[in-house]
Amino acid sequence: MNPDLCERAFAEAPERATLGGMSTEAEIVEQLRALGVRPGGVLLVHTSFRAVRPVDGGPLGLIRALRTALGPGGTLVMPTMTDGESVFDPRSTPSVGMGITAEIFWRQPGVLRSTHPGGSFAAAGPHAEEICRPQPLSPPHGPDSPVGRVHALGGQVLLLGVTHSENTTLHLAEAIAGVPYSVSYPTVVEEGGVVRTVMIAETDHCCVGFRKVDDWLRAKGLQREGKVGNAHARLCEARVLVTVAVEHLATDPLVFLCPADHGCAECDLARASVP
Ligand SMILES: [Zn+2]
Repeated sequence: MNPDLCERAFAEAPERATLGGMSTEAEIVEQLRALGVRPGGVLLVHTSFRAVRPVDGGPLGLIRALRTALGPGGTLVMPTMTDGESVFDPRSTPSVGMGITAEIFWRQPGVLRSTHPGGSFAAAGPHAEEICRPQPLSPPHGPDSPVGRVHALGGQVLLLGVTHSENTTLHLAEAIAGVPYSVSYPTVVEEGGVVRTVMIAETDHCCVGFRKVDDWLRAKGLQREGKVGNAHARLCEARVLVTVAVEHLATDPLVFLCPADHGCAECDLARASVP
């Protein structure tokens, strides 16, 4: 690993070049089912549309394909996180850095959005209400949060053109394992008409270390991989993901942080927070 890896983490996936013909919704549905997306299941999707495109119907075509693959009994979930710099209104505040697919998804009729001022998620389907119900402010991705509920419901995690660096369920694993690092960020909240800024603690770092999970899952045949549109897709069970990550965190609680001498400011901050 080199010190620049952290900065590249977020630029790399969206910039991946896409070539080839337009995928139809039917083709995407077929690819999702072949990958192992479970009809009637709960599916948490992190996606970079730039990696998947071109898709007939654009991001909305991809959303329709995901919902068709899940069927009427399935629940589709996407992160719609925000920067916490202004009062969060789940009906109007745009997501930040979650991609165009998630941004369009939460705006669709019948899609619910949770109310965490920084860590909101959107969901559609039979379990949407349960997944989006109110949660504690900290940790944003703990057992009592949308990702925690996807995990409790036996859901699947789909990474569509992104890596495990974007996989929020690994923050759930950190919470369950009780990792010793935590970084707090100022977040605007409104309670009873009073607006104030609170510090919300989370297990934050550059998240490049999350990519180690690829090897851990592949070694045990616990990750399905394939093409969806032009994107490389990874699919795994949320419970399996958490179990495997917690096992590694039990051996080394700092396994996801960049080494101390690698010049990663975010991981150094997390490391400095360890009591
Ligand atoms: Zn780092």
